[in-house]
This record gives sequence, C-alpha cells and structure tokens, in this order.
Amino acid sequence: MIINIAIDGPSGSGKSTMAKRISRELGYHYIDTGALYRAIALFVKRAGIDPGDEDAVSAGIAQINIGFRFSDRIQHTYLNEEDVSEQIRSPEISEYASRVSMLRCVRTRLLGIQRDFAMQHNLIMDGRDIGTTVLPDAQIKIYLTADVKDRATRRYEELLARGEKVDYETVLSDMVARDTQDMTRKLSPLRRAEDAVLVETTGLSLEAGYQKVKSVILSLLETL
Ligand code: C5P
Repeated sequence: MIINIAIDGPSGSGKSTMAKRISRELGYHYIDTGALYRAIALFVKRAGIDPGDEDAVSAGIAQINIGFRFSDRIQHTYLNEEDVSEQIRSPEISEYASRVSMLRCVRTRLLGIQRDFAMQHNLIMDGRDIGTTVLPDAQIKIYLTADVKDRATRRYEELLARGEKVDYETVLSDMVARDTQDMTRKLSPLRRAEDAVLVETTGLSLEAGYQKVKSVILSLLETL
C-alpha cells in the first residue's frame, strides 16, 4: 500500500522543516509543493509577465517545464533545466507565488505533477490544499498552525540566517497579507480539511513542535 501524508497550514508554521525531518525518519519522499508555485513565480517575474494577467501567465507557462528531482532524498526544484531551489526563497518570490497561485491555469498545471508522484510513492506532501484538493484520499492529514507572531519570528530568523536584509515588522505584515490571500482566494483556498488533525504549535520550540507532529503521525500510522 502506498502511504500519502498531507500537511497543510499557513506560511511559517514549520511544515517544511518538520515534514522533511519526519519523512527522512520514515524513509518517505518529502514534496514541498510551495516550491512548484515559487518556480512558476520566478519564471513569471523573470519574463516580466504581470502575475495578475491569467492569459499571459497561461501562455508563458505553456512554454516551460516545471518539476523536481531528488538528490539524497532532498527535493531540487527545476525551471526547465535550471535548479532554482535557492533562487525561489526570496520574500519577493513569496509574494509572486501567492499571486500566481490564485490562477486556475497554474493550479491545474501543478495538480497533475503532484498527484502523479503521490500515486507512486510513500510521501509527506506539504502545501495549502493537499488534504482538501490534491490528495483528498491521503491516509493521514495534518493541519499545522501557530500564532502569526510566532510564525513571523521563525520566518524572520530563517531569512536572516540566509543573509537576507529584512525587518521583523515587514516580515509580519507580508505574512498576514499572504495568509489572507491564500485563505480567501476562490480556488483551493487554504483551509483545514474536515478529516485533518489540527496541530497547534504556538509557544513551542521547533523541536517541541516537531515531537508533537511526529507523535500524531506515528500514532495515526499505527492505525492503518
Ligand atoms: O509554502 P510556500 O510558502 O513555499 O508557498 C508559496 C505560495 O504558494 C503560498 O503562499 C501559496 O500561495 C502557494 N501555494 C499554494 N498551494 C500549495 C502550496 C503553495 O497555493 N499547495
């Protein structure tokens, strides 16, 4: 039996760090679906396409390949033949990604890639609509969240560690704007699937949050 674990939640909830670590322990693949939206965002930005112009985005993305490959089980995200895993991490690309992710042409294009991979591999896939839309039949679904101030602090520290020049207030307001955009868009908005287990990590260290998510996943795996 192929096991699919879906983890959804707002930005900065720690999804990717936790999913990456748990998948390594389980020997599963980890798929970061946000990276695919970010790769499209990078393409749109480089091409000078208005991310609000669906016809232009649709015509543009028809000309490119988006995908991922693995090296030591680490996902590398590709725009055509270029590994863009690092370039897609800037705050500007976060904002572009949230805008292009509203478009039907973008979501439809990425849906197939995500489902095809999930059908063939044990995996943890994280994103915004995995439990609701991409993998509605996933055996395990987690909705991971934390207070926005906690999430903004984490993201701020992550960006600083990456050498980005950022200030906390901007990170916080960008995060609030992006959450609102992701939760209120028409297509596949971020929301907890009815059968997803809510895991709240407000006030917890990354390690404590990780242990909490891991114990939920391990106990659910035992029931399968
Ligand atoms: O998770 P990450 O912050 O990298 O995602 C970037 C953006 O991509 C999100 O703000 C969201 O708009 C979009 N996204 C999405 N559906 C997913 C994953 C990401 O709409 N499954």
